[in-house]
Amino acid sequence: MIFRPSLALIFWPLLALVAARGTPLSPNGSNGPVITLASSARDSMGAVFTRFNEHWDQLADLNTMERMLGTIRPTQREYLGCLQGAVTGDTIRIEGWVPAADMKQLQMAVTGSCDSVAGLVGTWHTHPYRADLQNLPVKERRLSRQDLETFTASPYRVTMIMWDVDSLDAAVRRGPELIHPAPVVIRPQPTPGSSEGIPRRPR
Ligand SMILES: [Zn+2]
Repeated sequence: MIFRPSLALIFWPLLALVAARGTPLSPNGSNGPVITLASSARDSMGAVFTRFNEHWDQLADLNTMERMLGTIRPTQREYLGCLQGAVTGDTIRIEGWVPAADMKQLQMAVTGSCDSVAGLVGTWHTHPYRADLQNLPVKERRLSRQDLETFTASPYRVTMIMWDVDSLDAAVRRGPELIHPAPVVIRPQPTPGSSEGIPRRPR
């Protein structure tokens, strides 16, 4: 989600709640695009999620607007990263990521730039917990409608959210087609001394 900061962006989560929460999506065929994500990248994304999800339950005394603006006290914030990798046919291989430049983090929105990132294939951002009226966590498990619209308008091949540690939702573009949800396969770390993808010969 990369868009210019404006007041409007602060309010889109509310609009998204009112609007239909996404449309029913057809299941992916076995020949559809696949995202492969290096486990090291997934782990570092999880660490970022944890860090910027802290204190999500410490806003019970604030009203909704105060929570969303996030100016009263530092608690959870969305975070934007730039995914690096390569695209081969229908496989989007993500090797790692770097933080977006000029990141502006709010509780329910984030802006930043991935311009000039080498090997850029897309973006990812976090969906921190929100507290409900009982101060229990509300988890936004899917790319929002706004997320998908922003993605559609971008030049990127993939976008992803992390909504809990190790929990992802992803979308892929294939020409004019938007595929959501798109499957994400975690690639294990290559064993030191071996070449990934080449089976090691037993000794
Ligand atoms: Zn989002």
